Amino acid sequence: MKAAVFREHDKDPEKVVKIEDIDIPKIKPNEVLVKVEATSYNYNDLWAIWGRPIKVPMPHISGTDISGIVEEVGEEVTSVRKGDRVVSHGNLSCRICNLCTSGREYDCEKRQVWGFQTGPLWGGYCQYAHLPEVNIVKISNNISFEDAAAISMVGMTSWHMLVDRARIKPGQDVLIMGGTSGVGMVGIQIAKLHNCNVIATAGNKQKMDKCLELGADHVVNHREADWYKKVRGITNKKGVDIVFEHIGKTVFPQAVALLKMGGTLVSTGATTGYDSTIDLRYLFFRGINIVGATQGTRAELEDMLYWTANKKIKPLINAVLPFQNMVKGHVMMMNGDQIGKTITTPQKL
Ligand SMILES: [Zn+2]
Repeated sequence: MKAAVFREHDKDPEKVVKIEDIDIPKIKPNEVLVKVEATSYNYNDLWAIWGRPIKVPMPHISGTDISGIVEEVGEEVTSVRKGDRVVSHGNLSCRICNLCTSGREYDCEKRQVWGFQTGPLWGGYCQYAHLPEVNIVKISNNISFEDAAAISMVGMTSWHMLVDRARIKPGQDVLIMGGTSGVGMVGIQIAKLHNCNVIATAGNKQKMDKCLELGADHVVNHREADWYKKVRGITNKKGVDIVFEHIGKTVFPQAVALLKMGGTLVSTGATTGYDSTIDLRYLFFRGINIVGATQGTRAELEDMLYWTANKKIKPLINAVLPFQNMVKGHVMMMNGDQIGKTITTPQKL
């Protein structure tokens, strides 16, 4: 089969990621082999290629989000069969520890992100990928393979942030930072699904227009120095109930200051830097919550796929790349010039 393999770390993905012919993997009794129709790009692909912040097993295949068709199942597998349409849940956790069995599999100490920490040669940028049965979720015929790959990780993460961590309620004022990023595009739609008043931010006019298309009620440019004053103005100086944050250092102190009494900031990243400060008076005088989130549960992925199948949530797709040009997706991500998710199609060279 064809697979996108790299055998050494480098700053430049085009130097090291090559399409190679390798053997189709043999599956264990509890595993499923999937003919991969679409794989979506995530930032952890770049961390793996760069070897920062961690070295990854070599030779390496990246790719955490796949969709495709079940090709073969191990003898212990009962929930899917050959021919089923499926997506990956890329969170490999032990499923036995206290955290896993209390519904916090994303906090499992043995957790590995499939395609990032796994290997050698075990990820989703290939024509046939294998995963344990528990990491395979069936999808409706109403969802295209491209949409399914695009929505799964970011959709699950956004759902976990807003529904589980921030306890979103109908009618709230919700600020979605970076509204055209992978998580942001879904965050806007989840907040609208809850009938919230959604203020999105973006870094240029084109991205701001996209936020409005996705359903945001208001949009501001977070690259302008007074962006937070505009948000405050939109809310008649009340501030917001929830801030959905992943931009980090350049916006964090202002984002915290925008919270109403008892409001919640939920963070899942820090693209512009992680060494931020906040005014602690906001924390105790206003009784605010600052919470973190990474990924989500299999059940949250299923919730997300339900709303995607019902056309209430739709991923924004930046580009669909033929597999032989797949490394261009990594370059686009490095340059930050994508709006929404980029996809490659391993069966279409
Ligand atoms: Zn565990």
